Amino acid sequence: MRFIKSPNFDLKNKRKIKYIIIHYTGMKTQKAAIKRLQSKVAKVSCHYLISKTGIIYRMVEDKNVAWHAGKSKWGRDINLNSSSIGIEMVNKGFESYPRAQVKSLISLLKKIKHKYKIKKNYILGHEDISPGRKKDPGPKFPWKKLYDSGLSIKR
Ligand SMILES: [Zn+2]
Repeated sequence: MRFIKSPNFDLKNKRKIKYIIIHYTGMKTQKAAIKRLQSKVAKVSCHYLISKTGIIYRMVEDKNVAWHAGKSKWGRDINLNSSSIGIEMVNKGFESYPRAQVKSLISLLKKIKHKYKIKKNYILGHEDISPGRKKDPGPKFPWKKLYDSGLSIKR
């Protein structure tokens, strides 16, 4: 785990974490994605960013609210930033996800799922909670591998 801090979050002492939301960065380079995730103008962030080589960067502490989901809804819950952990996968948006990156994601998901007792049906993509508005993590995302690891429902 490495640390690259983002100033974009709401400070909390304690919160209920019910969801994990997976994204792709959708930018040309990792550097550009990080710059945006730290920009006080863009006002976006995530808790974790995973490089294509599988390095996990923590950008916001779990207890704080990162700004990754925007307008979102699942069941009766709205504005899922407040109740979720956001994970960004470095990916231009149309690329397949390298094995090392997926391996790191799966190990991170296992840790977070266990720590906060998150149900596998609450591990979702941004496109699930903001349909029509968002397309990430996209059709190349390996949901099957998550399902095989008990980290997703069957899709
Ligand atoms: Zn997203």
